[in-house]
Amino acid sequence: MLEGQTILVTGASGGIGAAIVRQLAAEGARPIIHYGRDKAGAEALLSEVGGKGWIMQADLSSDQGAFDLWEKSVAAAGRINALVNNAGIRTEISIEATPSDWKSAWQREFQINFFAAADLSKEAIRHFKENGGGRIVNIASRAAQRGYAADAMPYGATKAALVNLTKSIARSFGADGVTAIAIAPGWVRTDMAEEFIATHGKAAAVADIPIGEMAAPNEVAELVAFVLRPGQASLNGATLDVNGGSYIR
Ligand code: NAD
Repeated sequence: MLEGQTILVTGASGGIGAAIVRQLAAEGARPIIHYGRDKAGAEALLSEVGGKGWIMQADLSSDQGAFDLWEKSVAAAGRINALVNNAGIRTEISIEATPSDWKSAWQREFQINFFAAADLSKEAIRHFKENGGGRIVNIASRAAQRGYAADAMPYGATKAALVNLTKSIARSFGADGVTAIAIAPGWVRTDMAEEFIATHGKAAAVADIPIGEMAAPNEVAELVAFVLRPGQASLNGATLDVNGGSYIR
């Protein structure tokens, strides 16, 4: 379904990002596998999917990281057809924290989860406009829509901003052949969820999920591949929920 497409996936060496890469490659796309630190993981993933694609390092916590990543990706791949903003962190910070810890947690969370995605989107939109169109998929969160926990408020705020960016792109650039979709998962079984479970226990995570289970990374990955099918243009601007019924809008 995705033959001939080159797709940049951020934070792709593990977790949901790696599942997305596997699914996109299985459907014929060539992935650009972005990683922050885990070069071995990115290399192993590229060879697992048959070696057709690229790995690309960039630190998205730095000011220039996203711009460098886009530039290197275009230099290596030429035409890019889609961008999946998947990289993200989830920081626990309490209102009892010192002002300096509080500020730095909020700033780092916004830099990685939102500013890097906005910078990549800026460059991607320009590239897509000049080259016949393209798609942006933003991995947001249920937290974007329903608000979030007292000890992780920055996370929900960054994801809400990402959903809003998705809507603005959808409204602004559809006429140029550029469409954008947000995906909003509840808990997904990855390292991010394991960290939460280690501190708070699994029951705390699944208590309000009617199906009683976290999503598998592949459930998100299949949806990403689906929304990138050339025929799915009218999903432009949508936010798709993947939360087991824990937040129904
Ligand atoms: P993960 O921790 O396994 O993966 C996050 C990825 O982001 C990693 O590959 C990491 O290298 C990358 N990253 C983080 N900081 C970076 C930096 N400074 N520079 C470059 N890369 C950096 O987590 P995941 O669960 O696979 O999360 C993927 C996305 O899905 C995130 O945006 C997350 O917020 C979102 N999400 C996850 C869940 C969940 O329950 N796991 C739920 C909803 C949304």
